[in-house]
Parts: sequence; C-alpha cells; structure tokens
Amino acid sequence: MSESELDPRFDRQVRFAPLGLEGQRRLGASSVLIVGCGALGGALALQLVRSGVGRIRLVDRDVVELTNLPRQVLFEPGHVGRPKAAAARESLARIGGPSQVEACAEHLDADNIAELARGVDLVLDGTDNLATRYLVNDFCVERGLPWVYGGVVGASGLVLPIVPGASACLRCVFPDPPPAGSLPTCDTAGVILPAVAAIAALQCGAALRLLSAARESWRAHRSRLIELDVWNLESHTLDAARDPACPCCAERRFEFLDAGAGGATVSLCGRNTVQVRPALRANVELEPLAARLSASVLDLALRDGVLSFRAEDKRFTVFRDGRALIEGLDDAVRARALYDRFLGS
Ligand SMILES: [Zn+2]
Repeated sequence: MSESELDPRFDRQVRFAPLGLEGQRRLGASSVLIVGCGALGGALALQLVRSGVGRIRLVDRDVVELTNLPRQVLFEPGHVGRPKAAAARESLARIGGPSQVEACAEHLDADNIAELARGVDLVLDGTDNLATRYLVNDFCVERGLPWVYGGVVGASGLVLPIVPGASACLRCVFPDPPPAGSLPTCDTAGVILPAVAAIAALQCGAALRLLSAARESWRAHRSRLIELDVWNLESHTLDAARDPACPCCAERRFEFLDAGAGGATVSLCGRNTVQVRPALRANVELEPLAARLSASVLDLALRDGVLSFRAEDKRFTVFRDGRALIEGLDDAVRARALYDRFLGS
C-alpha cells in the first residue's frame, strides 16, 4: 500500500510506527471472529471497525435487554428485544469505513464452530461463559489459530493472548473449568463499564498487534496473563509458561471439541432465562410457525429473522436454527416442556 492508497481516516494510526502502512494493509486484509457481542464483544467490534480490520464476523445467541445498556456500548433502548448480533451490526454500520461486518444470531458450539470460524485469522473472546472458552481454545489450538481470551467481573478482569505452538494455551494456565456456580458472575457480583472497556482495549491491542504483523513473527509471541482492576487501580502481569503436560496443546486431546453439542438444554447465567435447543439441528421455517402460533400466543412478532411471542407468562424468542430463549423461569425441565409444547422438537 502506498501513501496515496491509504484511506485518509487512518492517518494517525499509520503514523504509529509499530503499525505503519504495511501493518494497516494487513489489518485491512484480515478477518476476525468475535464470539459473543455483548459487553466485551461490542467494545471489541467497535475498536476493530474503527481500526479498519477488513472482515468481522459477530456471533451471539442472545437478545438485547434493558440491563445491558450501561455497559454494552453498541446498544440503545430501541434495540431491546432484538438479536444482539443484528443490532450490533446496525450500530457498526453507522461508523462507516472499509470493514465488512457479518452478523450470526447463533449459539456457537462444537458442531458449528468450524463453519463460523471459516476463513478467519484470529478469534476474539467476548463470551460470558467458560464452556465456550474451552471449546474455542480446543478449536484454535487444533487449527493453529490465535485467539485472545478476555473475562470481566465487577471492576476487574483478565486477558491472555494465545498463539498456538508459540505460547501457553488456556488449559496450560487454567487446566480445567471450575465447577458451575463456583465463581462470581456478572449476575451475582455485577460489572462496571470501565472494567469492560479496559479489558476489551487490552484484547484489541493484542489482536491489532498480531494481525498487523507478518505471520512468521507469530512464532516469537510471548504469553502474558494480565489482570487489571479499574477500581483499586491495580494491575499484575504474569509470564504464562506452556505446560509440557497440557492435555490440549501438548497432548492434543480436544475434549471440549470432541464432546459435541448434542441436544442439550442450557440454562443461562442466572437471569431467569433458559435456552433450549432442538435435539436435531435443523433450520426452522419461522413464517409458517408464526402462522400456526398466531391463535394461541400473545405479542407475536417476526423481525430480523427472529420470532418472539408470549405464552404462559413467559417470553419466547425463537431463532432460525431452532433454538429458543424462554424468559421467566429457571427450571430447565419446565423450559424443555414449554418448548416442546409450543415449538415441537
Ligand atoms: Zn496448553
């Protein structure tokens, strides 16, 4: 890229010598998958689009809620009830610039991760759950794809950029996911925007550095685990060493990838909502389904490829891949029963 080919909007970042014109050209030719586009994912997408990363694929299974607005920077009150991926894409389009943004309102799992990550150079973690992170780690180590772990609770968070083959992976540092319910979550301990913004910034810095560098230089990547607290103004950086007995990157056993997705019912993060998936993955024709339900449910709406309605005092959001979010209960069995009753399985 010569100076005359440069989009003038990137003038100041190209003047940053470690990036430069060549680095900007590589950013423009890069493709990134962002898993989850809520708090972290939204902040990550915003930074990648403004920085001129060429292609960005957003994957998120959820819909926007009022309580998201204080920290999920891409959403506004008019987005409440809409799929996060579609709402995020709409906000990102207003920024302009050369980035192409693709929105997938899907639940990323072992069955579809290869398809959702097709053609990407790097994966960014914007998820809210450890199961997905261990799956992403397995997939990225297996494929030799760099990814950047990020997590936030309360006023603090962690970042670990991972370059398979060169640096520690997630399981070198945290060998197994902790048991469910054993760690604080954003629903129990809360979370504040400055912590989200700080962690997303560190993740994005690591991503831009990798994407703007020659791929051969990735072999020299040094792993660092960074912990940051924006309330007490504390930070720690640890050198993360590879574990020669790591089940994932040393022994190459990909337990989370191999476990498959199955037809599991997943209870979401303690906010009175259960996600139900069909036993067999199959696309649902939402228009005829809406017609079938019209006489028996309330507030039926089909928008952005998502069907929503109320029934039995619960709010249902149904996606084309057959998943449903059922709000207003915590009981997975009851949720499965309601799913079967209204949607069949
Ligand atoms: Zn490892």
